[in-house]
Amino acid sequence: MSIRKIITAENPTLRMKAKKVHRFDASIQKLIDDLFETMHAANGAGLAAPQVDLSLRVFVAEYEDRRVAMVNPEIIKAEGEVLGSEGCLSIPGYYGDNIRRAHSVIVKGQDAHGKNIRVRAEGWFARILQHEIDHLDGILFLDRLDRPEDLREVTAEEEAELEQEAVIE
Ligand code: ZN
Repeated sequence: MSIRKIITAENPTLRMKAKKVHRFDASIQKLIDDLFETMHAANGAGLAAPQVDLSLRVFVAEYEDRRVAMVNPEIIKAEGEVLGSEGCLSIPGYYGDNIRRAHSVIVKGQDAHGKNIRVRAEGWFARILQHEIDHLDGILFLDRLDRPEDLREVTAEEEAELEQEAVIE
């Protein structure tokens, strides 16, 4: 496993629609392992392949007892609506407030070997999944802010505190 470099918002890869994975060779498992390791090193709760400059539809997410890695994910059901705050490892130093997400989602996709999987999530974990799937379509939380005042600058100290609450994705 190795830690990959996380790119930030000005990098055009983050704005591209990521490519579907068709070949499930060993490089996909390696990518997933690296995404987990990179995410842990950065104290994140989720990380998508475009954030390590790889335009592929793959992400990982981990929160409390939930841990998923998904390839070619697709939200097939979304219910309810909640507002919440989000950060992003690709947008260091900022948080977005009042970001609207579905309260619960069902996501279908594939695992590292191409086997079909289905993940059901609600609340905070559902928010993380929606944030990561946005990354695969070139969407950042900045695009989901209704009002400019919902973008908030945070100091490194505040950021460390927020990381404790696992609000970074
Ligand atoms: Zn993000």
